[in-house]
Amino acid sequence: MSAVQHPSWCFLPECSVNEAGHGTHISSPALVPDPDPGAFMHLELRLMQGAPEGTRLFDVRLVFIQLDPDDDAEPVEFPLSAEMALGLAEQIQRMSAFAGWEDAR
Ligand SMILES: [Zn+2]
Repeated sequence: MSAVQHPSWCFLPECSVNEAGHGTHISSPALVPDPDPGAFMHLELRLMQGAPEGTRLFDVRLVFIQLDPDDDAEPVEFPLSAEMALGLAEQIQRMSAFAGWEDAR
């Protein structure tokens, strides 16, 4: 049996690919914070790739910041295909340029 090959971006502690080569490679999250000091959520973005078929996804996760220790709101997850996510990024750039919102970053 050959050793499983992981992509360079794979975060091994969370990768689920087994010795038979089945599972999902996953990256560590990139954080997209909300600059509002009163923000109650942030976004996390991860790369995911199925194995061995190789379906590529961007996993967008909306994470709620706990304001109350008893508050256990679950993250909301939007797995987007690589094609959809890149199309979304292109549309966001196009629309922000159209609106003159490039200074919002
Ligand atoms: Zn992996």
